[in-house]
Amino acid sequence: MSEHYFAKGLFSGKQVVVTGAGRGIGAAVARALQNDGANITAHLGREENRQHWTFNGDGANAVCADLATLDGVDQTADFIASHCPAVDVLIHNAGTMLGRVPTESMTAEHYADVTNLNSRSVVLLTTKLLPLLKASGAASIINVSSISAATGGSAGSSMYSAAKGFISTYTRSLATELAPLGIRVNAISPGTIDTDFHQRYSSAEKLKATAANTPLKRLGTSQDCVSACLFLASDELSGFITGQIIGINGGMSYV
Ligand code: NAD
Repeated sequence: MSEHYFAKGLFSGKQVVVTGAGRGIGAAVARALQNDGANITAHLGREENRQHWTFNGDGANAVCADLATLDGVDQTADFIASHCPAVDVLIHNAGTMLGRVPTESMTAEHYADVTNLNSRSVVLLTTKLLPLLKASGAASIINVSSISAATGGSAGSSMYSAAKGFISTYTRSLATELAPLGIRVNAISPGTIDTDFHQRYSSAEKLKATAANTPLKRLGTSQDCVSACLFLASDELSGFITGQIIGINGGMSYV
């Protein structure tokens, strides 16, 4: 799928924030929105991800911060507030598994690390950006959940899967609460998408088996996540859709 297929100007002049936009799904989505005319404020990742800056041109800004920390969330929110008069689209994409940890080795520290990044940062960033989302008049929040929120994930991923389960439920709850403010809240729920994520946490054999068990017989790509995000981001395309979770998983039937 071409990187430029969506260039219709739907997002021209829109203020869009994407977290974890330095690589993978976040980078593909942010690039597509920028190609369509959006002003991108990109959270790239932690400080070492600054090299991943790829959003050139007018109206693009980038911040790096560790979203597992309270300081990192504050720093990101402050940066966004100082660059955006309003936030029309907020995509909470930053997240990761932080290793496969079996239950017998579980620690309070791993629990905190995984949930602080994958759940707490989404809650706090949403809360801090609420005035800017309200200022949009028709904002769209897109959370990035996971198929593991529904399936429980594979061995060693219990904290990550549960944190994504939180995101799916939070999406539905927030959609109802924020609807009167003109803010829609939806999520994408990727299946297995071939990014850095799986280079870290899945073996080649596991990925091959997943592709074979997927009805469409392949893994997903970052680009496969772009069109669903653009659809949910646009009031013109999805203005009556909120509280929904779109599975991007080649037919695995779970969201
Ligand atoms: P990725 O590892 O390429 O990207 C993750 C992004 O999160 C990176 O930009 C990274 O810098 C950022 N990040 C990680 N830890 C961070 C921290 N402590 N502070 C700030 N930023 C941090 O993987 P991806 O596949 O592009 O993942 C994007 C999102 O999709 C994540 O939320 C992930 O959980 C979710 N997801 C991915 C898959 C998949 O199969 N790849 C499946 C379901 C859900």
